[in-house]
Amino acid sequence: MNWEENVRNVVPYTPGEQPRGRDVIKLNTNENPYPPAPGVTEALMQIRPEEYSLYPDPDADALRECLAAYHGVGKEQVFTGVGSDDVLAMAFLTFFNSGKPILFPDVTYSFYDVWAELFRIPYETRALREDFTIDPKDYRTDCGGVVFPNPNAPTGILETLDTVEEIVRANPGAAVIVDEAYIDFAGIGGRSALDLLERYENLLVVRTFSKSRSLAGMRIGYAIGSEKMIAYLQDVKFSFNSYTMNLPSQRAGIASVQDEAYFQKRLRQLISTRERTKRELGRLGFAFSDSRSNFLFVSHDEIPAKELFEALKEAGIYVRYFEKPRIDNYLRISVGTDEAMDTLLAFLERYIEGRKES
Ligand SMILES: *Cc1c(COP(=O)(O)O)cnc(C)c1O
Repeated sequence: MNWEENVRNVVPYTPGEQPRGRDVIKLNTNENPYPPAPGVTEALMQIRPEEYSLYPDPDADALRECLAAYHGVGKEQVFTGVGSDDVLAMAFLTFFNSGKPILFPDVTYSFYDVWAELFRIPYETRALREDFTIDPKDYRTDCGGVVFPNPNAPTGILETLDTVEEIVRANPGAAVIVDEAYIDFAGIGGRSALDLLERYENLLVVRTFSKSRSLAGMRIGYAIGSEKMIAYLQDVKFSFNSYTMNLPSQRAGIASVQDEAYFQKRLRQLISTRERTKRELGRLGFAFSDSRSNFLFVSHDEIPAKELFEALKEAGIYVRYFEKPRIDNYLRISVGTDEAMDTLLAFLERYIEGRKES
């Protein structure tokens, strides 16, 4: 007998590196290079010491009301959690219970298979088309549920609302989760699955403050769905940990949502840097899909991605590289400030030149 035979054995998700004490250009975890709205710092400073000794509101009512008003839905349609990873994990636990396999794309957010393994949910992947787009027909089958990001990660590709709707419509017998971590960066024509909510009771849309709202450190995520879905999620959450979201995060979230002008200004700035970086990378011989997120997924026509990844790291520029089928010749580069992108582009230009000469 060996106690280790009874351990829940899991292979954990590998988050991007958070180098400490080294001055690096960090383009590896899709964080926002700009500070959050000024009101966020203000709200945090105004918390009185005695408020810290009390448990936070377990329902996060003020934040949920604020998000409900922002999105034009009812408070009972909003669920909050400690980052969208927490929200997604709770949603997997709540909705993926049929014993039938859940479905997600073969190239996608690499936490989905980890949660499926952790919760022992059977799953199958569906191959993206050659151009990395989703074929909605692949999801027209009896299954335990569907989850996918839109825009997708790590490709940055945005699917149309028609494609999303086709998947939801085909699965009335299961929950469909659309992970919209990057939808705020989609720009003109980037339509959210929130527009479908009125028609589908089984649709859950998940969002995060980590990327577009510059609040990765505060861990704020939420989901919007039918009142029924949110009630089921609340029941599971309250069976697990009532006080998931701390007080500062609840306050910070509200302050962020209240400053729409700042939010829009920073989004425009980031999108403009992204589009400029696309043009420059194209000039340097990189190929990529039309990313509608805050990162670029690129491959070079001559130089292997792994080599570039290592050379960049050596130079103190951190990007993400996934040693996985189909995508092992790509780099995922987060969009930083114009200055950070200039440093990256200058390094790449020199590196490519130097390689040609030798
Ligand atoms: C970053 C990311 C998340 C998780 O973000 P949180 O910081 O936990 O809110 C979820 N899904 C995708 C696709 C992401 O890229």
